Amino acid sequence: MDKNSLNRLDSMFETFSIIAEGSYIYLCDMKNDYSRWSKSAVDYFNLPDRYMKNAGAIWEECIHPDDRELYRKSIDNIFSGKDKGHDIQYRAKAYDGSYVVCTCRGAVIRDENGNPEYFAGAIKNHGSLSYIDTITGLRSLYGFFDDVKTILWKKKKNSVIITGITGFSVINDMYGYKFGNKVLRTFANCIQEVFANQGSVYRMDGTKFAIISNSRDEKHITELYKKLRKKVSHEFFVDTEKISLSINAGLMVLNDFNIESETIYSCLKYIYYESKNRRLGDIVIFDNIEKGNDRNSIETINVIRNSVIENCNGFFLCYQPIMYADTEKLKGMEALIRWKNDKYGIVPPVQFVPVLEQDVLFPELGRWILRQAMNDGKIFLKKYPDFIMNVNISYAQLEKSDFVSDVFSILEETGFPPENLCLEITERCRLLDMDILNNMFKIFRKHGIKIALDDFGTGFSSLGTLRTLPIDTVKIDREFVKDIEKSHSDQSTVQFISSLADAFKAEVCVEGVETADMRDFLRRYGIKSFQGYYYSKPIPADEFIRKEF
Ligand code: C2E
Ligand code: CA
Ligand code: CA
Repeated sequence: MDKNSLNRLDSMFETFSIIAEGSYIYLCDMKNDYSRWSKSAVDYFNLPDRYMKNAGAIWEECIHPDDRELYRKSIDNIFSGKDKGHDIQYRAKAYDGSYVVCTCRGAVIRDENGNPEYFAGAIKNHGSLSYIDTITGLRSLYGFFDDVKTILWKKKKNSVIITGITGFSVINDMYGYKFGNKVLRTFANCIQEVFANQGSVYRMDGTKFAIISNSRDEKHITELYKKLRKKVSHEFFVDTEKISLSINAGLMVLNDFNIESETIYSCLKYIYYESKNRRLGDIVIFDNIEKGNDRNSIETINVIRNSVIENCNGFFLCYQPIMYADTEKLKGMEALIRWKNDKYGIVPPVQFVPVLEQDVLFPELGRWILRQAMNDGKIFLKKYPDFIMNVNISYAQLEKSDFVSDVFSILEETGFPPENLCLEITERCRLLDMDILNNMFKIFRKHGIKIALDDFGTGFSSLGTLRTLPIDTVKIDREFVKDIEKSHSDQSTVQFISSLADAFKAEVCVEGVETADMRDFLRRYGIKSFQGYYYSKPIPADEFIRKEF
């Protein structure tokens, strides 16, 4: 193709691309059958180059085989002069091998003699339409994932901030949904104002936003967040209405690029909820979750997350006995997860459970835990026919609508009797719909499955949870008993919880019994069962079966 024609192609293409925001465009010089395509299309569909000879045939290769006939016909008609343009829909293969639905609109541009000169068109990728959030005009969660992937790929030093509004539903209820949208828009503006020149702002799910910042200065970012917080709690106006917003935030400085964007997202959600639930909205900075660990914990979390995808390879369960307080005979056991591999050794759950609970993958791990515990449990049953197997259930599992059917199908598959199963939940489930939970627990109990309320007293509304839900056992956290012999307030707390449980016809289990003295002291509170290092640490299944309890 001669230089003039190429220049003309380029200049037309550039004008064209300005107006075609959000679509991929192509421009074909029909005489030479030479085309130019958007760079984003070349990347997304893995095309050979922005400039292509015979692009029609190359593009046809990307189109789903079942849709090719329609495409070929319409191209033939255009090149033969039968049609002036086309407007068709087909599936095209993306860089990762998946198919996305596209709308392709094209038209022929003729020269002064009426001969076809150019074929120009735009392809809209339906899969990426939601890259922009329509309420705030910001890039959406998908845009965020895309940009994070790019950063990781470029190994660009950055930090990511997540922030969002607490109690937004109150605003929606009070002022209506339209006003709620305005609040979000105004909040988005405030973020952009405060974090101006820092990087890009994204609207994530619900009322959460993210900022990808070029700054890695924790102090500076913390200052900016304080400014934002002050602004939205004191000087925030929507339609002349003064509103006070409570917000939360987390900050992650990215140093490690060999990780998945999903891992970053789960860590962000984790620090966000830490900020909301434990720090009253102060910014939480993600560093090694377990201090004193020289390994980079995001790297560990990323590896552990990947093993969930690989059939939960590397996870294993340990079992800790639960004894009757009076007879000291075995009542049951609690299944506790661990993870190990050669490089990282054994990783305890505090280092990965809280973050993975924020991950869409957690329910899969939850099913693995339940299945493994039931399979091991069948062996324990031969030795201890009446024992109860306690399995920890995260709120991330409870909120999935298929949780009940998952439990029953695992019971059926493994043949473990439901009467020997106890599900341990924590008061964090108060964030879920209480009516749904109530019904769920009623179904479980009808089949003999028991429910225990774990870590009682450590959260905000243990009492509320106990009042609302049918609970068989209340587990008193180790926090309240570790100084029980000396601390009067701990003594009153245990006494109080014990009588409270009694009022709701629940029995009490105390965790963290470490010595015979503690056991003797605790016996005065009418406690049903004990669990703690005094009896045994959590141990693998084969060791458990060899021991005598
Ligand atoms: P948790 O459910 O409260 O489990 C009791 C924890 O206390 C266990 O820690 C256990 O090893 C420890 N413990 C028991 N007796 C004593 C004692 O006498 N002294 C001391 N110092 N500690 C004692 P672990 O196994 O590290 O688990 C920590 C937490 O991780 C669990 O707390 C639970 O919240 C979570 N977790 C563990 N396994 C699972 C699981 O399978 N699923 C879910 N969702 N969470 C799990
Ligand atoms: Ca537990
Ligand atoms: Ca506990």
